[in-house]
Amino acid sequence: MSTVTEQQAQAGLEALGLGVAAGQWSYRHFLGHLLHGERSARHERTVALNLQFARFPALKRLAQFEPAAQPSLDPRLIEELATGRYLAEGRNVVFLGPPGVSKTHLAIGLGVACAEMGHRVYFTTVMALARRFGQAVADHKLHRELHNYTRPKLLIIDEVGYLKLEPAQASLLFQVIAQRYDTGGAIVLTSNKAFAEWGEVFAGDAIMASAALDRLLHKATVVTLRGDSYRLRERKKAGLPSPALDQPSTKERDN
Ligand code: ADP
Ligand code: MG
Repeated sequence: MSTVTEQQAQAGLEALGLGVAAGQWSYRHFLGHLLHGERSARHERTVALNLQFARFPALKRLAQFEPAAQPSLDPRLIEELATGRYLAEGRNVVFLGPPGVSKTHLAIGLGVACAEMGHRVYFTTVMALARRFGQAVADHKLHRELHNYTRPKLLIIDEVGYLKLEPAQASLLFQVIAQRYDTGGAIVLTSNKAFAEWGEVFAGDAIMASAALDRLLHKATVVTLRGDSYRLRERKKAGLPSPALDQPSTKERDN
């Protein structure tokens, strides 16, 4: 690599239209400026790729979360989680509660924060996980599919419990949880079912359910959310009639 002289640096600054007078910026300052610019451009590319890889169903930020609308949650807990310390500790975060209490919003918000810290994150609902694994088994690509769930710094598993799993699906969900436990990779998980009901979620296999919970909760922050559905409240505010049931989204991603 050729050495850049102070003169060349000055010429470079002028070429960039920075119009800095000679001597005002030191050579080191100039290089620092360029390197910082390079670093932040690279960081932005990393974040954009991370957000693409994550496959969030919608972009939700922690900053868009209104703490006043969710009084069952201590805002300091969200601030603590937003630091990403749980990622370094391999600590899981579990959001429990009925539909519409912001479980998915918070899970995605943590995922976006993780992506912005420069880490890989992958979002899936249990339904999508089961379907994709089914396809992967048929295609003999199970090993590769597993990588999507085991490699990222953070795995988000949304809507555990909305669907009763088949035994094979339950076993795959168990494998994902067990592998992340072994490698110390954090999971953010949401569920509408209390832990006592997880046997039912795991195809009626209470032993598998408790083995999964054992690993999931070994190091975990469990957040139980209560209250009315934010969706229903917004509908009421807008003067719309309430639907009979506030069901979780049945819309799913196809790949
Ligand atoms: P859940 O996953 O618990 O069913 P969601 O996170 O999908 O609930 O929340 C339903 C909708 O209401 C989403 O569009 C979400 O962004 C919004 N929402 C819920 N709670 C809040 C809140 N406290 N502040 C801002 N938006 C909220
Ligand atoms: Mg949800």
